[in-house]
Amino acid sequence: MIKRLSLALLAAIVLLAGALAVNTLRQGSRQVAVSPLPPLAVDKGRVAESLSIALRAKTQSGLLDPAGQAAAFDALHAHMKARYPLVHAALEREVVSGHSLLYTWRGSDAQAAPVALMAHQDVVPVAPGTESLWKHSPFAGVVQDGFVWGRGALDNKGNLITQLEALEMLLQSGFKPQRTVYFVFGHDEEVGGQQGAVKIVELLKQRNVRLAWSMDEGLALTEGVLAGVTQPVALIGLAEKGIVSLKLTAETAPGHSSTPPGPGASAIGMLSAALTRLDQNPFPGGVQGAAAEMFAAIAPELPFAQRLALSNLWLLRPLVERALQKGAATNAMMRTTTALTIVNAGNKENVLPGRAEAVVNFRILPGETTQSVQARVKAVVADERIRIEPVGAGSEPSRLSSAQSAPFKLIERTVREVFPDSIVAPGLMLAASDARHFDGVSEQSFRFMPIRFNTEDLKRVHGTDERIAVDQLVDMVRFYHRLLQSAAGPSTEGKTP
Ligand SMILES: [Zn+2]
Repeated sequence: MIKRLSLALLAAIVLLAGALAVNTLRQGSRQVAVSPLPPLAVDKGRVAESLSIALRAKTQSGLLDPAGQAAAFDALHAHMKARYPLVHAALEREVVSGHSLLYTWRGSDAQAAPVALMAHQDVVPVAPGTESLWKHSPFAGVVQDGFVWGRGALDNKGNLITQLEALEMLLQSGFKPQRTVYFVFGHDEEVGGQQGAVKIVELLKQRNVRLAWSMDEGLALTEGVLAGVTQPVALIGLAEKGIVSLKLTAETAPGHSSTPPGPGASAIGMLSAALTRLDQNPFPGGVQGAAAEMFAAIAPELPFAQRLALSNLWLLRPLVERALQKGAATNAMMRTTTALTIVNAGNKENVLPGRAEAVVNFRILPGETTQSVQARVKAVVADERIRIEPVGAGSEPSRLSSAQSAPFKLIERTVREVFPDSIVAPGLMLAASDARHFDGVSEQSFRFMPIRFNTEDLKRVHGTDERIAVDQLVDMVRFYHRLLQSAAGPSTEGKTP
C-alpha cells in the first residue's frame, strides 16, 4: 500500500515537474529581431560642450527669487538658439508661462497624427550642506574623465540637449518630416508642471491637437538592477504611480504626565496605534498590470530557476510575490506603498500633549485612486477619534499605455537597433513626471530615456556628483536621431526613408 502511494506521489511529482519545464521552455524570447544600425557619426566634443553650457544655467524651479530664475532660463534659451540655428529656422517656437517651450516641427502630411518628445529644463537644487561633497562644482559644467558633471546632467538636460542635437543633425542632412513632431520642454517639472506641461496640454487641446503618442523622461536602460539579468534592460514605462499624503490627527484634553489616561487614550498613544496598523497592513498587491507585463517580457531571458518561477505563476505566484516583496523597488511595482514620513507631538517631558499628528505618503498603483486610498486608510485605522485628511498636492496614477500598440513597438525597435545588446520590456515608473499631464491629449504616453543607468547612477539623480558619460550622450543622439527618422519619416514602420 505504502509502495503504491509513494509510486503515485512520484508519478505526480514527475508530471508536475514536466508541466513546469514545458511551460518554462515554451516561453521563447519576446525580443524583436532587428538588424543593428551602423553607428551614426556624432561629434562627441560638440555634444559634451552643448550639455556643459546648458548645465551652467542654474534653472532651479520653485525658487523664491523670480528675477534670478528668469535670468537662468533666459541664458539657457539663448544657448539653445545659438547652438541650434537650423532648429530655430525650421521649427515654430512658442514660449508658454514665461519659460516653458513648445516647438512645432510641421510635417507635410496633415492626416498623420502628431507625436511629442519631452524633456524638462528645470533642475532640483543642491541639498544645503552637500555642495562641498561634489567633485566638481554642480553648476560649472565641467567635462572631465569622459563625463559631463553637474546638476541636471541626468535629470534632465542630457535628454533635452541630445534631442536637439539629433534634430539639428537631421535638418542638416535635409530630412523633411511627414508627421508633425512637437518638442515640449517644461520649466517646472520638479515642482509639479502646473505652469509648464499642464499649460502646454491646454494649448494643444484648444487647437484640437490629438497626439498619437508622447515620450518623456522616466525609465531607462538599467544595468545590474535586476538580479540574474546580465544584459541591459530597456524599461519603457507604460504608466506612473499617483501620490497622496494623508495627515492623521489625534486630539484629547492635554494633561499632567503624573496622571496619564489608560492605554490608547492619550493623543500619542492613539496615533501610534493607528500608525502601527497602517505599517503592519500593507496594501494588497501582486504581479499585475505593468509589473506583470515587465516580468513576462524579461522571464525568457532569465537563468532557468527564475525563468521557471516566473513562467509558472499559476502555481508559484505566492512564492514569487513573497520574494519580490523583499526588494523595495519590486515591492513598489506590485502595490500602493505606505511611507510614514512625519510625526509631530509634544514639547515638554511632563505634559501630555492635546494633539499628535503624522503624515503618511502613499504612492498609488494605477487602478486605485487618491479616494480609494483614503477610504482604505480609514478602514485600517478603524478609529473614529483619528481625523484623516489629504495634505499637499496629490496626483492620480496615470493611465496604463499599451505595450501592444504600434508606438510602443516603434520605440522598442529603435532601442534594439541602437542598443543591440539590450532587452526591452514594458515597465512601471515609480516616481512622477510631466508625462502624466499628457494622458488627456495623447493616445499613448511612454516614459523612457535612452541612458544606461546602474544602481550607482541612480543615486546621483537629485543627489551628489550628478554626471553623464560623453559616450552615453553620443548613444542618446543616435537613439533620438533614429526615433525621429522612423516616427516622422515617410515610413512609420521604422525603415530608412
Ligand atoms: Zn526629471
